Amino acid sequence: MTKSKNSDRMNRRNILTGIGIGGVGLTMGAPVRAALLPAGLRSEKHDVVVIGAGTAALVAALQAKQDGANVVVLEKTAADSSGGDSRMSGGIFFVPGKDTAESRQAFVDDNDRVTQGRGNKALFRVIADHAWSDIAWLKQQGSEFIEYEPARLGSGGTMTLAPAPWQGMPRWLATMQKQFTGLGGTIVYEAKAKQLIMDNRGHVVGVKVATQDGIVDYMANAVVIAAGGYCANKYMLEQLVHPDADAMLVRGAKTATGDGHLMALEAGAALQNMAGLATVSVVTVDPREPAGANPERALRHCVAINRDGKRYVDESKGLLINGRAALGQPGQVIALVFDENLKAEHDTQMSLAVYKALNLPVLEANTIEDLAGQIKVPAAQLKATIDAFNSAVQDGKALDANPPKAGLAAKIETPKFYAFYPLVPGITQTFGAITINTNAQVLEPDGRVIPGLYAVGNCAGPLYYDSYWPGGMQISCLVMGRIAGHQAALERA
Ligand SMILES: Cc1cc2nc3c(=O)[nH]c(=O)nc-3n(C[C@H](O)[C@H](O)[C@H](O)COP(=O)(O)OP(=O)(O)OC[C@H]3O[C@@H](n4cnc5c(N)ncnc54)[C@H](O)[C@@H]3O)c2cc1C
Repeated sequence: MTKSKNSDRMNRRNILTGIGIGGVGLTMGAPVRAALLPAGLRSEKHDVVVIGAGTAALVAALQAKQDGANVVVLEKTAADSSGGDSRMSGGIFFVPGKDTAESRQAFVDDNDRVTQGRGNKALFRVIADHAWSDIAWLKQQGSEFIEYEPARLGSGGTMTLAPAPWQGMPRWLATMQKQFTGLGGTIVYEAKAKQLIMDNRGHVVGVKVATQDGIVDYMANAVVIAAGGYCANKYMLEQLVHPDADAMLVRGAKTATGDGHLMALEAGAALQNMAGLATVSVVTVDPREPAGANPERALRHCVAINRDGKRYVDESKGLLINGRAALGQPGQVIALVFDENLKAEHDTQMSLAVYKALNLPVLEANTIEDLAGQIKVPAAQLKATIDAFNSAVQDGKALDANPPKAGLAAKIETPKFYAFYPLVPGITQTFGAITINTNAQVLEPDGRVIPGLYAVGNCAGPLYYDSYWPGGMQISCLVMGRIAGHQAALERA
């Protein structure tokens, strides 16, 4: 983030009192249509229309198809760039440690804790109850996983799509597309959903879609919005999240422009968790490979150093707390420093493997002073910072360090010394979402269901606030995607 603006630009009232985006007026109460789209050049009727072709969409579409519905998937990009954030995802699914009642409860509690009690407990419960059976369903569809990894600081763990983190998703998306089209499902590419169509009962009965031929009306008994987040919508970011948020490096897909949120809002849906930095996931990434080069596994073990050569965060709190803290550091460039002992940690090895796969260098030096030169910080200050940190380390904690480190603290004392550098803040995803119930039905602010309208994936929930467990979004796409597909299929006449 390089530019800075007057804070009065973060005038959220603008966005909430009717400034139009893409021809849609945004208001707190009744939705307004600032620009009505014309009747379509032609019209098609399906049982279920799914907007998007990422994880949530493909899961919902395949489930609806398996339930016997006539399903069409509408994707705004060409086939080879479809899949939004899912295509660039690590492919990690967060699941309860075991398929037992106790473990499922611990999963709900872990999610509740990490979201400061402001996450969606009802959805966490549904996800906990379905996670393992839905992973089994995915395997039946031809999906391959690498082995279960227990979480270090929680009771759950992760399943990662084969062949490896950050590498499994494109192949997996292709598998899901093939399963869906193999059953007779249709995917229309370069078809951008623009506006929901409602009948005079207030039911959503279709979508107006911009195609290469012009506007086509895709009519349906149910519409599933699975259009992803809005980390690439600079206007929404700067108005809702932070005045400078539009200038942050975007890790996610360029397609994540909040189209689903805006369409749903226009139809009267409630949006929640849209304001402030706690509603986005900001992590530190290597700007040369912002999607993949996020040494998240190593982070908690390292010391994070700013441009002044000082620590600034409790690294054990994880990637989002570090990412947000890095936003406030001089020049917004940081380094993660570790030594030979920490290099041997399994988590560090996982991050090193990611860097190796991406062909990115990890800096190494025989002395702290030499490393200081490489990460462009004052050598004396870095030495003083590391010495002070080392002398505070006791029983895996460094509670007297400045700032304290509550866990995974180990002395940085054994050469060689290493650093992941440079790392800068980047937005991975947004948490603000269309409000849904446990059947994935879209709700109005007063809690009424909007008949015929479902939302799933990153655009729906909202699930998280402030923080999340790595893998928490893909598991939501899977579980809620299946539920949405099933429910939408039931709506056919
Ligand atoms: C680098 C990176 C790594 C990540 N790693 C993980 C991870 O390992 N585990 C995890 O749980 N989460 C991870 N996440 C988050 C996770 O990938 C996303 O939350 C998830 O993939 C969202 O899936 P989705 O189906 O909701 O949306 P997307 O995957 O973004 O798909 C949305 C689709 O809708 C299409 N679309 C958008 N608007 C329209 C429109 N108007 N009309 C038609 N089509 C439209 C888009 O083109 C896109 O194909 C990661 C995110 C990033 C950026």
